[in-house]
Amino acid sequence: APLLSLAGVGKRFGNQVTALDGLDMEVRRGEFLSLLGPSGCGKSTALRLIAGLAEPTSGRIAFNGNDGLAAGKRRRLIGPASAGHPAIGFVFQEPTLMPWASVFGNVHLPLKLAGTGRREAEPAIMEALELVGLDGFRDAYPRELSGGMKMRVSIARALVTKPRLLLMDEPFAALDEITRFKLNNDLLQVWRQLNCTIVFVTHSVFESVYLSTRILVFRARPGRIAAELAIDPALERD
Ligand code: ADP
Ligand code: ADP
Repeated sequence: APLLSLAGVGKRFGNQVTALDGLDMEVRRGEFLSLLGPSGCGKSTALRLIAGLAEPTSGRIAFNGNDGLAAGKRRRLIGPASAGHPAIGFVFQEPTLMPWASVFGNVHLPLKLAGTGRREAEPAIMEALELVGLDGFRDAYPRELSGGMKMRVSIARALVTKPRLLLMDEPFAALDEITRFKLNNDLLQVWRQLNCTIVFVTHSVFESVYLSTRILVFRARPGRIAAELAIDPALERD
């Protein structure tokens, strides 16, 4: 069974905007799936619905074999694993770090919210920082970091719960090309190492082809899938 499936999912904002209309899609375990399309075609909306950050207007979303997440009946899913669902991580386009907290404190946040103190959380926090190459920066503050490093902290914060599913909403769009390329490569390493499933929203054809094992191409007004491209994973996964 797929890790996640959306069936006939629609999302309207007021009477004016139909962001998604009858979206059917599946996310398979272990894949690196990109949602590609022009600005405004509903990619972010699809991701936010998957995360439980917003409610679909119609249709159903099933996660990890757990059906019954009908319109209006969902709850926030991102964060650590809890009864009924494995952990989901979310990386926003903006790093959204707390400026008053250190790198360590920022990455601690999802575990802290789940009631795990600094001491107990430390091994997981350091593991996440190592994955993104920031273990030497635990005591730094966001203002001391470059845009790329801030994004690495944001990724570490999403990884600290050891998510089965990692959702990323145009995470590198604001970065310069070189930084972006480095982060692309490091993200691929993380994906292979953790063996997790990634859904990655982008409007970059290059990025989607470079990173993904499968691409869903969206078209706008209303948002729907126009094409699917499977990329033969000559990619090694060891
Ligand atoms: P994308 O991520 O592909 O750029 P979005 O999912 O952000 O697209 O947006 C799809 C459409 O829905 C756009 O027309 C956008 O303006 C609209 N939209 C998104 N969020 C909201 C909202 N909270 N309220 C009203 N309209 C919204
Ligand atoms: P993206 O990163 O996909 O470009 P936006 O910057 O368009 O996203 O949207 C950022 C936030 O604003 C999101 O929470 C989105 O739901 C909301 N939003 C987007 N479009 C609108 C809109 N037309 N009216 C109200 N809120 C919107």
